Amino acid sequence: MVVVIIVVACAALALAVIAGLGFYGGAIGPRRRRRGMPSGRPQPALAAPPSRPAPATAPTTAPAPTAAQAPPVAQAPTAGPGAGPASPVGTKGPEVGERPRLLDRLGKARSLLAAQLAGAVGRGRLDRQAWEELEEALILADVGTSTTAALLEALQERARRDGLSSSSQLLDALKEELAGRLAGDRELHLADEGVTVWLFVGVNGVGKTTTIGKVAMSQRAVGREVVLAAGDTFRAAAADQLEAWAERVGAGLVRGKQGGDPGAVVFDAVQHAAARGAPVVLADTAGRLHTKVNLMEELKKVKRVANRPPGSVQEVLLVIDATTGQNGLVQAKQFAQAVGVTGVVLTKLDGTAKGGIAVAIASELGIPIKLVGLGEGPADLVSFDEREFVEALVPAG
Ligand code: GDP
Repeated sequence: MVVVIIVVACAALALAVIAGLGFYGGAIGPRRRRRGMPSGRPQPALAAPPSRPAPATAPTTAPAPTAAQAPPVAQAPTAGPGAGPASPVGTKGPEVGERPRLLDRLGKARSLLAAQLAGAVGRGRLDRQAWEELEEALILADVGTSTTAALLEALQERARRDGLSSSSQLLDALKEELAGRLAGDRELHLADEGVTVWLFVGVNGVGKTTTIGKVAMSQRAVGREVVLAAGDTFRAAAADQLEAWAERVGAGLVRGKQGGDPGAVVFDAVQHAAARGAPVVLADTAGRLHTKVNLMEELKKVKRVANRPPGSVQEVLLVIDATTGQNGLVQAKQFAQAVGVTGVVLTKLDGTAKGGIAVAIASELGIPIKLVGLGEGPADLVSFDEREFVEALVPAG
């Protein structure tokens, strides 16, 4: 098998060189380009061969152009879902479409909070009962007991200091406090050189694969080439789903054998990205919870492997399903401890009345929410904005 793969790889390389396609020349990658080397020339020597013998995975090249055909993809320091590289850009993928507004998709959460706050607000003055009703409203919205306690303390301090007396002043102060706790770095960071890896972790069913597809689409829409790594080798359906996204948006895909080593898949995806001049790898990972200890060890290994040059893990994004409420918070703590999460993607905010979970996550974990999922469509992923979120969640006074 290994011999066959090596023979096939050699034949492919020879064909590429003969045909002058410069596929491996595309491996000049961002590092070389940043040093001002022209990207169009074939430079076979720069195609760093994998340190492992034969790839365990099968790269699929989706309709996106190879690096040799496409203009160079410029590096920008950061990239939100809609953010583009500086210039120039590569061939763009399909348009994402209009993104939804938090205000339009947080209806359930806003109604619940409005109903609960009605008691406190309706009293017109800040007496003990108003504070108790506010506490109850926050807990029901899934803000969590400790964050609620901290919020109430801060609000009571403000009430004393600033002389808050009316309910509308209270709501304004609440918005300020919530926004302060939700503030954070929203950017998806890119490495200065080499291949940037964004690792997506989280338990099954939270929306990891869908989120990867949405992020891939955003990146392709601004002309940034991406390779998807089907690191959940446990579920063939997850790889199939990623493959469908790769075809849809024009991304590369690397998938392995079912039950194979996820580290090998991510490693090969980084090599494949370097070879085709794609600056970013979006790596899916397994999320089966029943083997928690093994899962965390496996994730640590995947991260180590992904960090081998030219790979550089710039984001470990924990995907949390907002509808799971406080359970999501418990999961988040476990993942954060094991793999050093850099940001949270909070999915299904459109389907929950308990939007307060965002506040609990940001304040108890100290990890910024970077993206939120507001539906199942490709455009339904937006950069988190604490001001917009708070205005959408808290009813007007
Ligand atoms: P994974 O197991 O973590 O990879 O989860 P999937 O990506 O397969 O998603 C599980 C389900 O959640 C699918 O039906 C998705 O369409 C759905 N989903 C993902 N994100 C969102 C979201 O933001 N809102 C809604 N309403 N559904 C979502």
